[in-house]
Amino acid sequence: MADKEGFLKYNRELPQSRNPEDRINDFKEIYQPLDPKVLNHQAARCMDCGIPFCHNGCPLGNVIPDFNDAVYHKDWELAFQILRGTNNFPEFTGRICPAPCEASCVLGINKDPVAIELIEKSIAEKAYELDLAKPHIPEDRTGKKVAVIGSGPAGLAAADQLNQAGHEVTLFEKDKEVGGLLRYGIPDFKLEKWVIDRRVNIMVEEGVILKTDTEVGVGIQADEILENFDAVVISTGAQHPRDLKIPGREAKGVYFAMDFLGKQNQVISGEISENPINANGKHVLVIGGGDTGSDCIGTSNRHGAASITQLELLPKPPQRRPTLNPWPEWPMTLRTSSSHEEGADRLWSVLTKEFTQNEAGQVTGLKIVEIEWKEENGRMQFFEIEGSEKVLPCDLAFLAIGYLGPQNALLEAFEVEMMENGLPKSKDYKSSVPEIFLAGDMRRGQSLVVWAISEGRECAVEVDKYLNNGISTLPRKDQSFYSYETEAGVSP
Ligand SMILES: Cc1cc2nc3c(=O)[nH]c(=O)nc-3n(C[C@H](O)[C@H](O)[C@H](O)COP(=O)(O)OP(=O)(O)OC[C@H]3O[C@@H](n4cnc5c(N)ncnc54)[C@H](O)[C@@H]3O)c2cc1C
Ligand code: SF4
Repeated sequence: MADKEGFLKYNRELPQSRNPEDRINDFKEIYQPLDPKVLNHQAARCMDCGIPFCHNGCPLGNVIPDFNDAVYHKDWELAFQILRGTNNFPEFTGRICPAPCEASCVLGINKDPVAIELIEKSIAEKAYELDLAKPHIPEDRTGKKVAVIGSGPAGLAAADQLNQAGHEVTLFEKDKEVGGLLRYGIPDFKLEKWVIDRRVNIMVEEGVILKTDTEVGVGIQADEILENFDAVVISTGAQHPRDLKIPGREAKGVYFAMDFLGKQNQVISGEISENPINANGKHVLVIGGGDTGSDCIGTSNRHGAASITQLELLPKPPQRRPTLNPWPEWPMTLRTSSSHEEGADRLWSVLTKEFTQNEAGQVTGLKIVEIEWKEENGRMQFFEIEGSEKVLPCDLAFLAIGYLGPQNALLEAFEVEMMENGLPKSKDYKSSVPEIFLAGDMRRGQSLVVWAISEGRECAVEVDKYLNNGISTLPRKDQSFYSYETEAGVSP
């Protein structure tokens, strides 16, 4: 345990973010560097609990108290070894994970939880600074070839693991660069793209072969992949957006959120010169109260929108955990993102009725009505509140109301069986076709980066077993993955 009294002596402290008025002038990361002393105090707050609930809270099973202790003792090599044993990309999750681990931190029962995500990011960055994050080229090669289709965090994690297991891995990506939604969805102010390049360059040095600008099913057909590879991982995401089927939806100025966000990331990287959707001087409505909606707010503010309003069908969440949502469950409380801090109005319990438009077909407003949520016949239902109808001015609207699942054409080409809910059938990451495996949002539905990495890692174990007569040397989440020398000998 780092410091027996750390949790009594120090409060939770996070890095300062840049002033919202300044930071909306660029797309750079918003957090400022942290004083190393503060980081040391944050690591000291870990109580090294007998049952560390944070392990279970993290979808990767990160061994959190152990790396907290190593950080406290400034043993960066050990901290990185522990973290890298369970997480291929701590530099991503350390920046954009919603940190379910912190929600289940025992200290969080009556105090603020340990700043685990911050510590994770600090370990990852220190590892690059000290040249600990360097290529690890597998000594033995198995002669087996694996195609990984889709290079989001799930595909990247699967490729990294399978390459380390000695297989020859080719990563196919339809876009110009690898990274999936890390690159073409999540804005730079949350994750600058050099962070992805820095890691992918290491993977390439380690032997992963990248085939970008190559859409499987278009540039190369499923048959050809099956002929040339011993196993296939499909990790093509679930980017099929949910539409809002209300009158006026076809008006000019109503877009899916991803049409806006993806293009903005391409502008920043220089892939295109200008975003065809410009929020400057416009009254922007963001429909959907989640992460994607919040990213539309941050991006619209950086464009110089005249006003931004975010609408949510569900009621406003409480500030504190309700009794029926106790620790260590994920708290269903009100979240205020850095984009909200930069400025936006938020409306809850509103139903969108119709987009109004002018003669040129340009959207001019959105008719909404307030709703009341009530339990009827054993389930929550909403009812419109009479007389609460109004029209919000709107020049630009973004639909950020979730994703329906994967695009099916590729799965059909590989003759993978589907379920009624639009997701492919899978058991232990295996599809209905023996040599085809599935991972990430495409398998589990729209989720999080940390889950995508976890899926890629677990899927890689199954692929490795398939190629290696049922045996895999790759670690599973429920195993102890790392060993290191301590004064008492070698750790389990
Ligand atoms: C705007 C936005 C913000 C988000 N913010 C966060 C956040 O802050 N934190 C968080 O944890 N999660 C966030 N998420 C969710 C997270 O990004 C996803 O859960 C995660 O990226 C899923 O990873 P994946 O590898 O399964 O799929 P994806 O990242 O979707 O990658 C799939 C890849 O497959 C490629 N592909 C598709 N079809 C083919 C084909 N036929 N041939 C070749 N390649 C193909 C795609 O081009 C893409 O690169 C956000 C999502 C969005 C949309
Ligand atoms: S990956 Fe996410 S859940 Fe896991 S330790 Fe890091 S911040 Fe916590």
